[in-house]
Amino acid sequence: MEVVRLRTPGVLTVTMLAVVSGVMCAQQPAATGAVAKPNPHDTEVFSPEPKVVTPATVVGQPPSDAVVLFDGHSLDEWVSAQDHTPARWMVQDGLMVVNKTKGVGNIETKRKFKNYQLHVEFKIPAEITGTDQARGNSGVFLASTGPGDDGYELQIMDSYNNKTYVNGQAGSIYKQSAPLVNPNRKPGEWQSYDVVWTAPVFAADGSVKAPAYVTVLFNGLLVQNHFALKGQTLYVGTPSYKPYDAAPIKLQAHGDASLPLSFRNIWIRDIQ
Ligand code: MG
Repeated sequence: MEVVRLRTPGVLTVTMLAVVSGVMCAQQPAATGAVAKPNPHDTEVFSPEPKVVTPATVVGQPPSDAVVLFDGHSLDEWVSAQDHTPARWMVQDGLMVVNKTKGVGNIETKRKFKNYQLHVEFKIPAEITGTDQARGNSGVFLASTGPGDDGYELQIMDSYNNKTYVNGQAGSIYKQSAPLVNPNRKPGEWQSYDVVWTAPVFAADGSVKAPAYVTVLFNGLLVQNHFALKGQTLYVGTPSYKPYDAAPIKLQAHGDASLPLSFRNIWIRDIQ
């Protein structure tokens, strides 16, 4: 009100009326103690709508938008990681089997992936022998960047009742991150990994702009929680990154003398 000074009492110009009116309106809520009421619609988002995906009727089976990497019938989605010839693992009774005594080698997907959700089921035989790292050893390389054990390994082995270094037991990111808990089932029982992989991001000069992140559920329990990888898996030495864009998923035929391992129901979903 102080901004309005009347030189001629009783006469208000249109401008003055507007100023007075505006001041009165602006001050009205404060005068009455009212506060502008938030509108619930202010924070509601309607687009873009999430894509409709039909979940499986049985938990763990592939949803409608998954790429099925093994359906129990063929190795058509896989090749030898060594030379990209046909995969030399076996299909027996609807299962993918790696006989590690025959030097069949690692296998990897024909397709390449960047960010994804992956489901894998595996079984270590009830009659497994060996100890430490030589007891049902295999692995899922979450990005295969070379023919051997190059890449980022999520360890598979029997850790039900088998001591080894904790960052090398089942559910570990090998030699980088021990699992948060040990949810291993007995040898002879089916087990599952559900993985969310966020690929590393590299600058044009090959330097790391963002590390890879991984979250893993092992038999439904969280064992890796958005872990930032230190680089590719190494048996000896400090991990470091090797630039890549998209890469296959690789399964390991570890050179121990353990019995054959079985896999089933492997599927993947791209994450945009
Ligand atoms: Mg392994």
